[in-house]
Amino acid sequence: MRDQLLIGGTWRDGADGERISVLDPATGEELTTVASGTPADADAAVSVAAKAQVGWAKVAPRERGEILRNCWKIMLDHQDELGELITKEHGKPIADAKGEIAYAAEFFRWNSEEAVRLRGTIGTSPNGANRIIVHHPPVGVVVMVTPWNFPAAMITRKVAPALAAGNAVVIKPAKETPLTALRVGELLEEAGVPPGVVNIVPTQSAGPWFEAATANSATRMVSFTGSTEVGRVLLKRCADRVLKVAMELGGNAPFIVFNDADLDAAVEGAMVAKMRHSAETCTAANRFLVEADVADDFTQRLAKVMADVQVGPGHEAGVGCGPMINAGAVQSIDSLVNAAVGEGATVVTGGEIVDRAGFFYAPTVLADVTPTAAINHEEIFGPVAPVVSFTDTDDMIRIANNTEMGLAAYVYTADIGRGMSVSERLESGMVGLNRGAMSDPAAPFGGMKQSGLGREGASEGILEFCETQYIATQW
Ligand code: NAD
Repeated sequence: MRDQLLIGGTWRDGADGERISVLDPATGEELTTVASGTPADADAAVSVAAKAQVGWAKVAPRERGEILRNCWKIMLDHQDELGELITKEHGKPIADAKGEIAYAAEFFRWNSEEAVRLRGTIGTSPNGANRIIVHHPPVGVVVMVTPWNFPAAMITRKVAPALAAGNAVVIKPAKETPLTALRVGELLEEAGVPPGVVNIVPTQSAGPWFEAATANSATRMVSFTGSTEVGRVLLKRCADRVLKVAMELGGNAPFIVFNDADLDAAVEGAMVAKMRHSAETCTAANRFLVEADVADDFTQRLAKVMADVQVGPGHEAGVGCGPMINAGAVQSIDSLVNAAVGEGATVVTGGEIVDRAGFFYAPTVLADVTPTAAINHEEIFGPVAPVVSFTDTDDMIRIANNTEMGLAAYVYTADIGRGMSVSERLESGMVGLNRGAMSDPAAPFGGMKQSGLGREGASEGILEFCETQYIATQW
């Protein structure tokens, strides 16, 4: 297991010898420790990346693409091993962890194809005096800060397009899940990524690390995935140096069910949207808005399936919901549930912390939740489904949009015309229409409002990591 910093192709400890304690959330005990990068290490990594980037940008796009394809292949060859590592440090069920690796790897395959299709344009100026040639050089060095909920995919969704465009990167994975990040870094080098192009520097002092990384004048861009709260802090810091930014932030997805929906399909979709990856996803259905005449039926069906979900360590057979990431997460979920119940919500199933070692919360369904309850306005990030009923579509859309977040939304209806028109009225970067899953390397992932800036994946993904240069000339 790699437990040191990866800087310039070498593995080493942090400058002050400090270590990060990595916990097993299924037991609450320490799994291992990992070297913690200091501000000096962050600065050194940016300088190393800046040197490596010059050579990497000169590698022919086809060759870059082939190396990225090797990265896709090597991740799949190690899918079981990487999946097990994710389950160890994050806790999610092993099937979700292996699924994450397939998803994470796919960003390399997609961007291996994008690497050779990065096109510019040529036009003539309106007065005919000259040509306007537009092309897209790489930004340079990109500092990446990623969350713990997808220890592999939130890294590859940024690294693959950044490398395809010819950038070098310095990654700060979440301190809860550095093991997967370090192993992925090792595999990328085995796949042919030159030393220094991908640097991985975990730290337990994120603030000072980030200050140093962004103080280095070689840093040109910050790509962040995490909470809106931290995103705001990083944006302010980036403003000081007018750095290019890409922000994938928090969500508060409504899951809307109309009375004509196929309720079996809606419950199946709800389970995917709510419970995948132990319910700790940014696209997780956070609020269920269900048309009043089917609200009780939907709630009972959902509660039955939720009550059957096996809770336990992610590596155990049959487990559908692993531990939460830490004790604080469990407490915050429990407080939201208790507050909702205090405001009149009914616990249909679950509603409590699981009494065992580790950080477990029981799959929960709440009925009669008021639209104003805190649970409808904060990201739950846990296995709790609050159901609010509605009678009027316009009111429901007002409730759905009554949040500063705008990442994902789900709509279930048999009337595709209604589904389309409601989808278009939702202030949400992504909508699953009669689908509980939407993430796809070929689609632009990202949010409106305070859920983010920019998109990851699709053709937009690679452009985030490019400059636009225009050359005026005539001949
Ligand atoms: P977080 O914001 O607490 O942490 C994210 C990262 O930021 C971590 O690496 C953390 O160490 C780092 N960080 C924290 N403070 C920092 C600082 N002052 N300077 C520099 N770095 C700092 O988020 P989290 O708890 O790891 O992840 C959960 C959040 O991420 C949720 O809000 C979820 O919705 C969001 N998320 C969004 C997406 C998306 O694509 N939009 C995807 C996954 C997760």
